[in-house]
Order: sequence, then C-alpha cells, then structure tokens
Amino acid sequence: MTEIRFHNTLTGQTEPFVPQRSGEVGMYTCGPTVYDFAHIGNYRTFVFQDILRRFLRLRGFRLNHVMNLTDVDDRIIAKAAAASVSIRDYTQKFVQAFFDDCKTLSIEAPEHWIRATDHIDDMVVLIQKLQEKTYTYGGEGSIYYRIAKFPEYGKLSKIDVTGIQAGARVDNDRYEKESARDFALWKAPKPGEHFWETPIGPGRPGWHIECSAMAMKYLGDTLDIHTGGIDLAFPHHENEIAQSEAATGKPFARYWMHAEHLLVEGEKMSKSLGNFFTLRDLFGKGYKPSALRFALAGVPYRRQLNFTFEGLQQAASAIDRLRNFADRLKTGKFPQGSVPGMSERIKKAADDFDAGLSDDLNTAMALAATYDFVREANIAMDKGEFRQGDVAAAQEFLATFDKVFAVVADNDAEKLQALGYGNSSGAITDAEIEKLIAERQDARKRREFATSDRVRKELADRGIILEDSKDGTVRWKRK
Ligand code: AMP
Ligand code: ZN
Repeated sequence: MTEIRFHNTLTGQTEPFVPQRSGEVGMYTCGPTVYDFAHIGNYRTFVFQDILRRFLRLRGFRLNHVMNLTDVDDRIIAKAAAASVSIRDYTQKFVQAFFDDCKTLSIEAPEHWIRATDHIDDMVVLIQKLQEKTYTYGGEGSIYYRIAKFPEYGKLSKIDVTGIQAGARVDNDRYEKESARDFALWKAPKPGEHFWETPIGPGRPGWHIECSAMAMKYLGDTLDIHTGGIDLAFPHHENEIAQSEAATGKPFARYWMHAEHLLVEGEKMSKSLGNFFTLRDLFGKGYKPSALRFALAGVPYRRQLNFTFEGLQQAASAIDRLRNFADRLKTGKFPQGSVPGMSERIKKAADDFDAGLSDDLNTAMALAATYDFVREANIAMDKGEFRQGDVAAAQEFLATFDKVFAVVADNDAEKLQALGYGNSSGAITDAEIEKLIAERQDARKRREFATSDRVRKELADRGIILEDSKDGTVRWKRK
C-alpha cells in the first residue's frame, strides 16, 4: 500500500501522515453554524471530510472524530432574539435538517456530534486558565485574548501581525485578515439577548473558544487532524491555536486540512445572485442525492470546485455506468474459468485507487483508475473475455470503491422519500419492480406481448427503465 500523504496548511507542505498513536486518529471538524439551512458549499467541505474519514477507516485506522454544531454565535444570538425564542428552539430545526442532509448525502456520523451550548462550562474553565496565564484582559464586561502575548500568532494563515496595535479589539466572531485584533473570548450580555451566568461573569462565549474547549475535551491537548473550509483558517483556526497552545503549552493540531471553496457557475454563491442552493433546492429540481455527493467528491478537496448543472448531470451519468457495471457483474452469465491477467488487472485498479487517495486524497485520480478498469472490463465482457471466476474480485474492488465514494448502492429513492420528495403513492419499491418484471417475463413467454408492453409502460411511467440483455435477463434502473 502507498504511504499516505496529506497537505498540511500549517507547514505548507504535503507530508507523510503518521498519527500520534499507531492505528488511531483523533480528528476534529468544525461543524455548521446552525442559523439557517446549510448550502452546497458547506456540503462540499463536509463531503471532503467524509471521504477523508472513510479512506482512513478503509486503511484500518480507528477513528475518534468529533464534529461540533455551532449553536451559539453572533448570527444565532441575533436571530433568536429577533424571533423572541430561545437559542435551542431557534436552532433545533436547522440541527435536524443538517442531520437529515448528512444522512441523505451518505456522510457518516462522526463518533461524537456535540453542541456548543452543552459545553459552556468547559469554555469557562479554558478561559479561566488563559486568565491565570495572563493571556486575557477585560473591557466592558467582555474578556479579550491578548494576541501580542502569543508570538506565534499568524503561523497557520501566514498573516503578518507586526503592524497590529496592541490593545486594539474586535468583537465580531467573523472578520477579515485586515481586521486582525485581540478577539473576544467571552462577550458581555446585550439587552434582550441570551446569556449565561458563570464564574467569569454573565455573558456568552466567542465562537473561537467553543472549538478549542470541545476539541481538547474529547481528543486531548493535541489532535491528529483538524479540518474545515479554507475560510476558517483565518481567523477561526488561528484563534483556536492561540487559545489552545497558550493554555496547554503543547501543539494543538498536527495536520490542518482545509477544503477550497465551491463556486457556482464560476461565481461566489450568494442569495442576491440567485445561485445559492441548499440540498433541498436541488432535490426539488429532481436531482438525486448520489449525483450531488459524487459531484462534490470528485474534485480533489484543495482544488476549487466549480459547481454546474452540467457537472451534476455528468456525475449522474457516471454513477449510472458504475451501477450498470455492478448489475452486470451480479446478473451477467459469463463463461466458466478465469481470464489470464484479469486478476492482476483488478489488483492494478485497486492499487491505483489507493495510490490516488493516498496522494492527499486525490479523488480525481482514484476515479480515473476506477473508470479505466470499468471500461476495460465492459469491453472484455462484450468480447466474452471476462469469466465467472473474475467476478468476485471485480465485485470486491467495486465494494472497496463504494466504501469511500458511497454512490453505487442505489438508495436515492428511499432517501428522497424520507425527506418528503416524490409522493409515496407513486414511489415503487424494489420488490414491486421485481414482481412486475417477473409478470412481464411470464407474459413474453406466453407471447402475450400486449400484456408485456403494458407492464413495461407502467414501469416507465413510474420512473423505471428496463434493459433486456442478450442472454434473456432483464436489468432495471430508476430514471
Ligand atoms: P459555517 O456554517 O459558515 O461555519 O460553515 C461550515 C463549513 O462550510 C465550514 O467548514 C466552512 O469553511 C465551509 N464553507 C462555507 N462556505 C463554503 C463554500 N462556498 N465552499 C466550501 N466550503 C464552504
Ligand atoms: Zn471551529
């Protein structure tokens, strides 16, 4: 197997991946800020993290993966206050939608899903530690982090902090590099907004302290991997490093992996441009979850992903080809024996697939290896040069592929139905389809072609396409 190498934002290098404890990976992912429905850009980053965790698991690592839900930040506090509801009540709908979306996109649940609001005490303890070490100062009921006291500030995002005036402060959770300042660890209550009574005074946590406190609680002082979208590198991750390393004196995370942003048709996604999509927007237009997952996963995470509807269609067609190949392996009738060289060809596909993912999760390379093999195997099958004895190894390769990409197993219809798309009276189960196909086969045997045509049409009307193969078997797929 190829050595795994990941690009580390901290060092700017692509390095061999070696976790602290052999066979185990402690990984932290900044989850969504649940103030609204997450969009396809967010899922570009969450799908990258899913590919990462699935690949590490495939390579035999035990994962301790923590993902938080940011259910308190400036936007949530303001929106909850405007709606006169509690933070929990305001965020619950978006938390549930996020869980549903992840399931729909086959994003595996991390070992720990945690909410920021369940960890206020841990944040307070961490702030107290920073107070003891004099990394903080107060002002109007808030507590700020003194970045001048942490000379390594800027090492992740490579910003130059020499010109920053000591004592200048920023209160917003999100700000640009140009506004790098001492940032708020704890914010004084504002009239009408939610706050907590704590030993460091009344108020609420800043966004950055949440992740430091939660990550170290579940993973220890030093994490193996910390991930997020590239926009989080500054200020969020820079501030996480400053807080955590000042408190513990140890490195906070060994590998920092950041996904490039997604654009839509070449432009930054925004509601005003009308190019802003949630998953539900796309499912409402009839696109399938597997196609979206594949479109998001197929572009290596450090390359900018230009999302287009054409790309989404291409992803759907690629999945069809893979599913047809899986069906062919399952139902095709092949000559006995095995073809010389075929098992080596399959092994090469598996090795190339692994080499692609080992190379900083180069999904495009892993996909190319898979497509090449599927194309060659299909040609071999057409020529009768693929035999029964080769089936199991090819199926095993496809199963390995799907442990990471998770698109060959067809469960789109069930997922869409669970989200409320497609009416249940029109939705047809696999068992019903098989039953109707058997009826059609019987009718054809009896040469009752009007009946067999009627069944075919009924299936077509319900979105099922039949393909009669030369050997008399029938394959089907959902449109
Ligand atoms: P947020 O809820 O804003 O904290 O974002 C959740 C995750 O989505 C973070 O890792 C962000 O970096 C990431 N993200 C936000 N916008 C995009 C985008 N357009 N493309 C890729 N990732 C994004
Ligand atoms: Zn975070």
